[in-house]
Amino acid sequence: MSNYPDHRIFGFDELNRLRANLYNGPGHPEAGVMYSWVWASTSSQLAYKLAGQWEQPLNEDEFDVLEQLEASNGEASPFTAEVKIDCEECGGTGVDPGGLNAYEPEDCRVCHGAKRMTITRNDLWEAFAITSGQSDRPIERQHLTAMDAYSRQVLNAYAGKLVAA
Ligand SMILES: [Zn+2]
Repeated sequence: MSNYPDHRIFGFDELNRLRANLYNGPGHPEAGVMYSWVWASTSSQLAYKLAGQWEQPLNEDEFDVLEQLEASNGEASPFTAEVKIDCEECGGTGVDPGGLNAYEPEDCRVCHGAKRMTITRNDLWEAFAITSGQSDRPIERQHLTAMDAYSRQVLNAYAGKLVAA
């Protein structure tokens, strides 16, 4: 049972480093449960780390997929969206929470009284963080959509490689 290859899902973390997520293979007691993370800044480094730390060297197809991801790293992620949320500094009041004079409130130093702030949300990062237990926010539809689209992208990269072979 132990020589099933582990499944890997590749992607990026918040710092734009390449990341491999390792899963237990089929037949293992907890098949499909994510159990490890490996990060590196290049596909070669990631391959080296996987081989050294986990005794699971990348096969050629996986390496090609990683190189494609690495090459597309500079492009805008299809999983990001600009969203407006309540200002996190003032909680959406628009008033400086550290202001000393309650009768003459000062504008919040972050939103300058606008009460809202724009953040770049990455549904894929959030989905990875939630499934790995690094975030306890509830999983929502956009996370599943991002995961689904991302899985298709990775599968297509593999399929393209098979067709080309
Ligand atoms: Zn504010």
